[in-house]
Amino acid sequence: MEDAERLHKEAIIIDGHCDTILTVTGRGFMGQRPRDFFARGDTGMIDLPRLKEGGVTCQVMAAYIEDHYKPARSARRALELLDALHALVESSEELMLATRAADIEAAKAADKVAFLLSIEGGEAVEGSLALLRGFYKLGVRAMGLTWNQRNDIADGVGERSGGSGLTDFGVSVVKEMERLGMLVDVSHLSDASFWSLDKVAERPYIASHSNARALASHRRNLTDQQIEALAKKGGVIGVVFAPGFVDDNPDNVSLARLCDHIDHIKSIGGIDCVALGSDFDGYTPVPGKPVVMKDVSELPALTAELLSRGYTEEEVKKVLGGNWLRVYREVIG
Ligand SMILES: [Zn+2]
Repeated sequence: MEDAERLHKEAIIIDGHCDTILTVTGRGFMGQRPRDFFARGDTGMIDLPRLKEGGVTCQVMAAYIEDHYKPARSARRALELLDALHALVESSEELMLATRAADIEAAKAADKVAFLLSIEGGEAVEGSLALLRGFYKLGVRAMGLTWNQRNDIADGVGERSGGSGLTDFGVSVVKEMERLGMLVDVSHLSDASFWSLDKVAERPYIASHSNARALASHRRNLTDQQIEALAKKGGVIGVVFAPGFVDDNPDNVSLARLCDHIDHIKSIGGIDCVALGSDFDGYTPVPGKPVVMKDVSELPALTAELLSRGYTEEEVKKVLGGNWLRVYREVIG
């Protein structure tokens, strides 16, 4: 389909979440050995050649704090991963760091790939707003307040018995993130924490990698009321490609089924709140079962699917990256 190809090339494409840094640094991740980010691999889901094949302008790179570093060595681990991300950017003319929306437009114009840095798990700030400000100075522009566990900011989604939301420290973290110009990411929050954050938030907030719970019952997917509340604040949801979030039945997972989530989120929150948050390299495909796509190089198929569903070119561009760019411009500058 020629229209899809042209549109995909023209568009600014932003993926709101991946765990790739863990797969190319240190000892590797999820049983895989570390890979070369600059060589086209046949394992993993993201490397530079495949980002370019997929047409990605900006990849949000998350520093995910693995359980065994929590809580006492969380800041150290976040700093190690951020150091590895900076090292990648500094070692290639084809990469650049994005700390503002304009940097992403500059990357598009220069045919480079931008990284926007985020932290997945507020343990990284170790209870100190000074550390939060330090991470901002290192270029971090988004942070998930929790991973699945409870921490000193809020309850994560895995905290089933607790019904509590943000702590007092959590509220001060949100206020400081908003003052600095950092995006608050709700993707791993418990429902109670989500609503507590929604009450406190004065700026748009994001769900970097979550789908619609109405279509797949995963606890990390958002209910219709959550989608509505987030959209009302001007926030953005990145749809996640991990099979368990796409359909309760692994046999039903497909690109079309992922696009059903885009349709649904659009129908509840409007076209301005839905975008991409693949979670590439953060999940393992179910052996022998279908996937949304094998890796980031297949992203052009999503543009074709949305066009075939009757999305206008303007709408497709919003989903591919326009909505992320808008909320970045508004919150981080
Ligand atoms: Zn995650």
